[in-house]
Amino acid sequence: MNSLDDFVQRHDFPCWCGETKGRVFCRQLFGRRPFVVWRCAACGTHRLLPRALAEATGAAELYNNYAIPRPTPQQEHTLENIALARMHRVGFAFRPGQRVLDVGCGDGLLLEAICRAHGCTGRGIDVDERRIRHAREHRPHAQFECGLFDPSQTAGPHDVIIACAVLEHVLDPVGFLRALAAGLAAGGSIYLLVPNAASLNYRILRSWWRELLSIGEHIHLFTPKSLGRCAAAAGLHVAEFDTDHDIGWPTIEFDSPRNALVAVWACWRECVKRICWLAHRRGHGDLLFARLVAPLHAADTTRDL
Ligand SMILES: [Zn+2]
Repeated sequence: MNSLDDFVQRHDFPCWCGETKGRVFCRQLFGRRPFVVWRCAACGTHRLLPRALAEATGAAELYNNYAIPRPTPQQEHTLENIALARMHRVGFAFRPGQRVLDVGCGDGLLLEAICRAHGCTGRGIDVDERRIRHAREHRPHAQFECGLFDPSQTAGPHDVIIACAVLEHVLDPVGFLRALAAGLAAGGSIYLLVPNAASLNYRILRSWWRELLSIGEHIHLFTPKSLGRCAAAAGLHVAEFDTDHDIGWPTIEFDSPRNALVAVWACWRECVKRICWLAHRRGHGDLLFARLVAPLHAADTTRDL
């Protein structure tokens, strides 16, 4: 048996759809963190082997253990505008008094922006203690709790539930979406943002699509189609989706041979990203975001996935 078969056999786990069969999409079997990305034969979701820690203790340890970037106020302002514009693109419009729950809120940047600009009532939950501490100190328009998501926390009802960059960390995405759906008010919507496994950039860079593969953290990567299937399995419907690119020049340092090599590599990757951005077609961006509703409230604007 070759090392690839051996690796897959040792680390494989069923896809959220129950399928175990698939094929290798990309791999890197050398270095400190060997990994294989396995594309599900049934639904097209990518799963990352070995599987990241998803249990409460493991996740709390994992997400409290890396450096947090602290953007400047100007950078925060830009990030807020980008995040709000994405929500508007998939049909979100906020009204004063709406109840917004943000699961995996990070340091609360988006939730604070929504509550401050639109007079909504916001509650944010995140497993990272340091980010929640920062949110409590700097985001006065919303409330923040620290902990791993628990379905009882969705008790609402909520007009909007946000889960940005969360679904790809969850072992049971259908159960997670069901729990979110249970917390929705009539006519409410869920906003999801995940890495896009149908991204053109990913198809070119493969195992070097590192920021969004996030080896050791992500479990499943969705395409627009597989996200639609996952939502349907949870009794939800993708009313609208879009994709976007995550462009930004990396920090470049040439002060040592190692840093110079990293800088050249980062510039090459950034060039690929920008070419993909220029050649953009709907569905090909690096980040996939969507508005999910309960079928009863499905909008007329539903698009085919
Ligand atoms: Zn699957």
